[in-house]
Amino acid sequence: MSGKILMLILDGIGDRSVKELEGKTPLEAAETPNLNRFAKEGENGLMDTIAPGIRPGSDTGHLSLLGYDPYEAYTGRGPFEAAGIGMDLGPQDVAFRCNFATLEDGKIVDRRAGRIKEGTEELAEAVRDIDLDVDFKFEKAVEHRAVLVLKGEALGGGVNDIDPHETGTGYHEATPLENSKENKRTARILNKFVRKSIDVLSDHPINKKREKEGKLPANVILPRGGGKVPELEDIQTKHDLNAGAIAGIPLVRGVCSLSGMDVIEVEGATGGLDTDLDSIIDAIIEGFEDNEFILANIKGPDLSGHDGKAKDKIDFIEKIDSSVGKLRELEETYIAITGDHSTPVTVMEHSGDPLPLTIWGEDVRTDDVDEFNERACSNGGINRISGGDLLNILKDLADLTEKFGA
Ligand code: ZN
Ligand code: ZN
Repeated sequence: MSGKILMLILDGIGDRSVKELEGKTPLEAAETPNLNRFAKEGENGLMDTIAPGIRPGSDTGHLSLLGYDPYEAYTGRGPFEAAGIGMDLGPQDVAFRCNFATLEDGKIVDRRAGRIKEGTEELAEAVRDIDLDVDFKFEKAVEHRAVLVLKGEALGGGVNDIDPHETGTGYHEATPLENSKENKRTARILNKFVRKSIDVLSDHPINKKREKEGKLPANVILPRGGGKVPELEDIQTKHDLNAGAIAGIPLVRGVCSLSGMDVIEVEGATGGLDTDLDSIIDAIIEGFEDNEFILANIKGPDLSGHDGKAKDKIDFIEKIDSSVGKLRELEETYIAITGDHSTPVTVMEHSGDPLPLTIWGEDVRTDDVDEFNERACSNGGINRISGGDLLNILKDLADLTEKFGA
């Protein structure tokens, strides 16, 4: 009988030696009896999500884990963010991540409009009234974030970011990255959109009110990360799997939903350090009633990695550890515990360091590893694999593959 597959992706879990931890990584320094038990009963190794030395984004990393070639499939972050907040995307559409920002005398003074929290729906409504030459959708996301989708044919995804990614300078004009008719058209439309966003936002009552309160106005929209909707073969046909995904952050939800996975809503799963880990674990167990394969992303370790906070990373890893033991209840299930990339607290960004990997299941070949961390897993029987092979390895264990040949 065939089994089931779980990929438990601890986002940014991998790390490097930290001086203040006497040369240990946060994962080594953490008390993790439950994760260690999976390692002891499982087989272990290291994994390069894309390839050795390549620093994956969470989007390209998850594409690779789902068996897509990120170098072919990836068209930019925008479409994943759009899908991740539930926007409908057509195959011709071009999507951008956007910020509400503050413009003063032609210069960007704050890329996040004072981290605006309230009134963005009203501002988004005003933006939606802009008259462009194409249909478009504009939706607010969390805080100062938003998504713009240009709809219809003859649009290209290859334009530079309007967002200058720094303050004290003007915003960039959109220009085509490659000189095609489609990219030129997108650039023209995008420049018009940004100019008109300033027109409709500058005198908006919400901004008048903000200025009166001494807050920065959200008076310009800065698009970035543009890309055409990627053509991903549906995972249900590519891998012949009923697949579900759990993820707190829109980017990863978007990757999973554009690949055809069912995105499972989990109450309390915030994608932050305050996420409800027990309800995520319960949702995984329940999710297997309808799915053969579940990918669950837990974002927390990445956040502490970006903040450079080893102690926070250790604390959150220990919280994960106290929740994951329940997964042992899953029968006939092969569980991979790993990450999508390392986010070392010493680097405060994603790095190409390989990830610890444990595969647990009833009849996996065990090895001599009895802890789940970078050092211990490097001695395991899986040795070092590529992230693009992980799903195949799990499918083979679960007897979900066809034989190649006679
Ligand atoms: Zn990530
Ligand atoms: Zn990150």
